[in-house]
Amino acid sequence: MPAHPAEIAAAEREGIMIVDSWAPKKLLGDRAVSGVALVKCFSSDDPVCNYEPVLDEEITHRLDADYVILAIGQTPYLRFLAGQKSIDTTGSVIDVGEEDLMTGENGVFAGGDVVTGPKSIISAIAQGRKAAAAIDRFLGGNGDISETLTEPEKEVLLPEHSLTARDRVQMPTLRPWEAVTSFDQVELGLSEDQIRFESERCLMCDARKFEVVVNPEHCKECGYCEEVCKMNAFSRTDVFNARGYRPVACTSSDWCAGCLKCYFACPDFAIDIVEVR
Ligand code: SF4
Ligand code: SF4
Repeated sequence: MPAHPAEIAAAEREGIMIVDSWAPKKLLGDRAVSGVALVKCFSSDDPVCNYEPVLDEEITHRLDADYVILAIGQTPYLRFLAGQKSIDTTGSVIDVGEEDLMTGENGVFAGGDVVTGPKSIISAIAQGRKAAAAIDRFLGGNGDISETLTEPEKEVLLPEHSLTARDRVQMPTLRPWEAVTSFDQVELGLSEDQIRFESERCLMCDARKFEVVVNPEHCKECGYCEEVCKMNAFSRTDVFNARGYRPVACTSSDWCAGCLKCYFACPDFAIDIVEVR
């Protein structure tokens, strides 16, 4: 189960014991739970971070327990729709039309995680725009919801601080012994000065330029770079290199945000990301 190092440290400060490399197999007990049966887990993800656990059912372990709290996974609260027979909530998601995101109830739209299941914030925002366009059409408009709030800047000058790595501000929290004895919010929030400092840590990736360099002789066409790059910077070529592979090429460096995901994903060290000023 992935977790941020700061969250792991916070959990351990509160006395939580993390038993890693084990996967739950089943709950034990007759009428009341008495423990959890575990099997050995050697890895949880494949090389491109898809959840693909490798388990050994022969190696087992048992944890005694009086209570088991399943603390992973979330589902939307849809009970308020119980009386709405026209809105299909099978599988704890709302069924909508693919094109207009309209539910079975005429004029009622839904979007985001409640439709797709857990996804990214940007996917929820995209659905919001799609639904807004559909609602506009539903109300008699043409579905064009574009608007220019401000003209794009022609030239962006990078402030000096934007190229300096600065540590993240530490969030003030309750002390561990206070946190475990109440339901008060543990993170107390940043002060105004801390918020200003945090906002100045922006590296302005959108204003920086990067060049994606692929060494065609090193590439073994595994495709990891294409999978991790959300900017579609890579495409396949038709020519073979000396080792008999068809290397990828960078289609356009213009959209590269310098995230370095491809750089770290490439098992053959075939990619370099160079900042061009
Ligand atoms: S650095 Fe990031 S954005 Fe740029 S090509 Fe690699 S994965 Fe894509
Ligand atoms: S550049 Fe690297 S990650 Fe991309 S296809 Fe070639 S070997 Fe795989």
